Amino acid sequence: MNRVCSWCHKSLGSIDSDVHSEGVVTHGICQDCLDDIFSKSSLDFTLFLNSISAPVAIVDKNGVFQSANDLAQSLLNKDRSEIIHKMSGEAFSCKNASLPGGCGKTIHCAECELRNTIIETYEHNKDQVDIPVTLIQEKESQREMFHFLVSTQKINDLVLMKIDELYL
Ligand SMILES: [Zn+2]
Repeated sequence: MNRVCSWCHKSLGSIDSDVHSEGVVTHGICQDCLDDIFSKSSLDFTLFLNSISAPVAIVDKNGVFQSANDLAQSLLNKDRSEIIHKMSGEAFSCKNASLPGGCGKTIHCAECELRNTIIETYEHNKDQVDIPVTLIQEKESQREMFHFLVSTQKINDLVLMKIDELYL
């Protein structure tokens, strides 16, 4: 089967596997494109993220959102300005994010699967695949369970995360 890069549409061939990124989030995008996209520090990642057909966000090592695609924005029910440069917990409307200390620093955060997955990915540069996460969202004083699977991939100093909502 002949595969093409979903970003530059260059053929990835079927044998030339070293140009093919096997990243869990960016599979289908060639390594040249990833290098190019992630070497531009001032780049707006939105266009790139929107080429991925799943809710995807980019966070830094502290879990601060750097970018998110349209699918992620609608999943989180927030527009861009409400999530960019916000802690993951705020972007996800996690009830703990408004507690003293804020996202990542409350007594509940040590057990947060999302936070731990981001840290694990960043520190060990290891993709994480379909890690189940449950958090309690607080929206206008209404609380709701939010179940999802998160898959992560580190690129340079950033962590890409793909979110697959679960309906339990
Ligand atoms: Zn490409």
